[in-house]
Amino acid sequence: MDKSLYIVIPCYNEQEVLPITAPMFLDKINSLIEQGLCNEKSRVLFVNDGSKDDTWNIIQQLAEKHEKIVGLTLTRNRGHQNALLAGLMWAKDRCDVTISIDCDGQDDINAMDEMMKNYHEGCHVVYGVRSKRDTDTFFKRVTAEGFYKFMHIMGAETVFNHADYRLMSKEALEGLAQFKEVNLFLRGQVPMVGYKSTAVYYERNERIAGESHYPFSKMLNLALNGITSLSVKPLRYITGIGLVMAVVSFVIFAYAIFTKLFGNTVSGWTSMIAVMTLIGGIQLFCLGIIGEYIGKIYSETKARPRFIIEKTTEDDKE
Ligand code: UDP
Ligand code: MG
Repeated sequence: MDKSLYIVIPCYNEQEVLPITAPMFLDKINSLIEQGLCNEKSRVLFVNDGSKDDTWNIIQQLAEKHEKIVGLTLTRNRGHQNALLAGLMWAKDRCDVTISIDCDGQDDINAMDEMMKNYHEGCHVVYGVRSKRDTDTFFKRVTAEGFYKFMHIMGAETVFNHADYRLMSKEALEGLAQFKEVNLFLRGQVPMVGYKSTAVYYERNERIAGESHYPFSKMLNLALNGITSLSVKPLRYITGIGLVMAVVSFVIFAYAIFTKLFGNTVSGWTSMIAVMTLIGGIQLFCLGIIGEYIGKIYSETKARPRFIIEKTTEDDKE
């Protein structure tokens, strides 16, 4: 049972919420240690994702005051997924198991006890799954659930109602480290890593303070990124549409020949334009999707670093 746990928490402009939730995370890690679920080397790791407010200062102060809190900061804002990966990869070399969670207190930290129990029973990945969405607005709920369903149809396998609250063992993280892609969508990549996994159910609360950084536009972006990063199903659908269009145009062609040979040859200008625009529209749409993938190939071949760690609270101590 002598395992060290790092709780990895990405933070972007969270000066309002951090002073409230940081002590909660600290209490949690102490309680897990007391219960023997992890050892004294366990830490709470805050990743500052290039915040423009006082977040990094707060993290540094917390790290100075509490031995169990550590922090690292990125050179600039890279987005939730990159910040989380930075934290996980940094933690991977220092501990046996990680739990990632948002810093706004929305996810029930008490689910960590069960996650750790599952880990000790041999699970390498434990997904935190929301049991219900009462606290969300109707709009958020409908768009979020639509998001998972749409992702599924498009071939991006994800765990339903699971965001990025999850436990991952060192081994699973080593696996994740081998995914070299630049366009990150962790909740789709982690299931690809494999290993024994399970889920823990919890109720999600409202944000304790501050504002969400995931408005509808960003969520749509995440969904599009998830689909085009994970699956080539849209390309298959294009093939399907192309096939249907081929059949339809053959029928129209046969009909045109038929009318030419047996009578009424007054050709309809309107219907011709209609067909042309229809086909033109579909072709453009398909080109757009293909373009999405070409864009991905472009950025993947560039293989830019996904994050650069500027400094950590541990640098001075070493
Ligand atoms: N976050 C981040 N970088 C960003 C945006 C968000 O590290 O560019 C962090 C944020 O501090 C929080 C988590 O990602 O800990 C989730 O963000 P948020 O709570 O705003 O999203 P929501 O829960 O509303 O989907
Ligand atoms: Mg949140």
